[in-house]
Amino acid sequence: MHKRLVIIGSGPAGYTAAIYSARANLAPLVIAGSQSGGQLMITTDVENYPGFPEGIQGPELMEKFRKQAERFGTEILDKDVTAVDFNVRPLVIKVEGETYTADSVIISTGAQAKWIGLDSELRLRGKGVSACATCDAFFFKGKDVAVVGGGDTAMEESIFLTKFANHVTVIHRRDALRASKIMQEKSKASSKISFIWNSSVSGVLGKEKVEGLVVQNVRTGESKNLQVQGLFVAIGHEPNTTLFKGQIAIDDKGYIKVHDGTKTNVDGVFAAGDVVDYRYRQAVTAAGMGCQASLDAEKYLEEHTLREARQVQVTG
Ligand code: NAP
Repeated sequence: MHKRLVIIGSGPAGYTAAIYSARANLAPLVIAGSQSGGQLMITTDVENYPGFPEGIQGPELMEKFRKQAERFGTEILDKDVTAVDFNVRPLVIKVEGETYTADSVIISTGAQAKWIGLDSELRLRGKGVSACATCDAFFFKGKDVAVVGGGDTAMEESIFLTKFANHVTVIHRRDALRASKIMQEKSKASSKISFIWNSSVSGVLGKEKVEGLVVQNVRTGESKNLQVQGLFVAIGHEPNTTLFKGQIAIDDKGYIKVHDGTKTNVDGVFAAGDVVDYRYRQAVTAAGMGCQASLDAEKYLEEHTLREARQVQVTG
């Protein structure tokens, strides 16, 4: 099936691109993924998205994005893209057995949480090891937990965990937090949060569930056990770009390279949101980029159609 515009990904960037391009009569197809909605689907209170003075739950916000995109005629497919070919015209997008072609594509596949990389961490994932406090904190009522990381996510997760856990220990590899001042102050002010500095987790203890951690001081090399029943890993994110390797220019951290707004190095392919942006990573900045990508794609398609019309005139 041929489309003028296919949008891959359904976070704030993808849906905003859909809203704008649907209103521009481009009849976009959003390939939303089997788990649509992006990272906000695993977020509870969103208090900094403008227009919601009382705050809004992440999944509810994404439902509103989706409905708004559908209102203007966006087609949404809740399936995963399995392969793309951007070396041919029209562009090719394969989705679980079906093949779509498109004149232009917007990539907005976002990013996902990073893990420490320990075997024991992988083995106990979902059995006390988590990368999403907002999803799993509820299971740690009255328990002792640890959070790894020193950024805003780690502080946000620690503060959220105090609503459920008995105590939260933040383990950070340096002696200074990377998090914003306000988040640092909030977490340091909590009587339920304590810090272990200059340390990393070198092992997760327990067979069927988390029973403790081996915490190593990175300066002295000394190790000690910490008794906790939960480990929350909050050490940053990785862009979802595996599909596009070899197809478009990607930087050494895996983020898609863009120029002149949202243009990738392939004509007609644009990228927006966390898959590009390792700096701001906010829903509102992703939405802003989604809007830019739609306007860029619209302009490209206009020029493309004009070029084709001229070619028909010349050859006709
Ligand atoms: P981040 O700012 O990149 O912080 C990652 C943290 O994890 C850093 O403290 C880093 O240590 C540590 N780390 C990285 N790799 C590690 C490893 N292998 N082992 C142990 N520790 C490791 O990521 P983030 O906290 O997810 O935040 C990402 C962006 O989103 C930031 O711009 C942040 O401001 C924003 N954000 C904002 C809010 C908010 O405003 N409410 C909430 C969440 C996130 P080092 O410090 O030593 O590098």
